[in-house]
Amino acid sequence: MLTGAGISAESGVPTFRDAQTGLWARYRPEDLATPEAFAADPRRIWEWYQWRRELVHEAQPNAGHRALAELQPLLPQFTLVTQNVDGLHQRAGSIDVIEYHGNILRDRCSVEGIVAGRSPLSVTGLPECVRCGELLRPDVVWFGEPIPPHALHQAAQAAADCDVFLSIGTASLVYPAAGLAEHARRSGARIIELNPQPTPLSALADITLRGQAGDLLPRLLQAVRR
Ligand code: NAD
Repeated sequence: MLTGAGISAESGVPTFRDAQTGLWARYRPEDLATPEAFAADPRRIWEWYQWRRELVHEAQPNAGHRALAELQPLLPQFTLVTQNVDGLHQRAGSIDVIEYHGNILRDRCSVEGIVAGRSPLSVTGLPECVRCGELLRPDVVWFGEPIPPHALHQAAQAAADCDVFLSIGTASLVYPAAGLAEHARRSGARIIELNPQPTPLSALADITLRGQAGDLLPRLLQAVRR
C-alpha cells in the first residue's frame, strides 16, 4: 500500500492542493518546503509548519485509516508506505508504517540531521537544538532532498515483492514515491488505484476505484473479511 495526502483529507488535513486555497494561498508548497526556503527565511517556514502541526494535532484518524489498520492482520504480508507526515496511520493502529517523507511532529537538527530535543532558552524565538544550539527543522523530506535510506530501501523491497500494489489518495506526481507503483508493476504486481480523480498512474492501473478513501476502504475491508 502507498498512501498520500488524500487519505487524510477526510480528517481535515489539507492536501497540498487544498493548502493552496487556505491561509497560505499566496505560496506554493514547493516554495516553502525546500532547504533553500528554510535557509533564506526560517521564521516563515516555521510559521507554515506550526500552522500545519496544529491542524495535525487537532485531526483524528478517519474510517480509511482505521480500515487499513484492521486490514493489516488479515493479510499474510502487508506493508504500508505513506507519503504523509501526519502520523494518522499509527494513531489508527497501523504498525511498522514506513514514513517515506518523515513526520511533521518531530524536530531534527538542521546541521547534524539527528532527531533532537529543543533548547529551552532559544534567543531567536526559533527552536534550537539542545545539543549544538543550531536551528531545528521539521523532520520531513523537502523537495530536492533524499528519502531516508531505510525507508527508501524497505519501500523498494516491498514494491518488488508484492502481488498487489494499492495506491491510495496520491496524485502520483512526486518521485521517487510515484515510481514505487511502476516498480511493482515491472515486478509483476497488479496495481489498484483508489482516488476520486484520475492521475498519471490511472493508465497503468489494473483496477481503478473512484471515490473517497473513507468510504471505499471500509468496503474493501468488509470484502476481505467475507
Ligand atoms: P497531493 O495533494 O498532491 O494529492 C492528493 C490526492 O488525493 C489527489 O490525487 C486527490 O484527488 C486525492 N484525494 C483527495 N481527497 C481524497 C479522498 N477523500 N480519498 C482518496 N483520495 C483523495 O498529495 P500527495 O500525492 O500525497 O503528494 C504530495 C506530498 O504532499 C506528499 O509528499 C506528502 O508528503 C505531502 N503532504 C502530506 C500531507 C499529510 O501528511 N497529510 C498533507 C499535504 C501534503
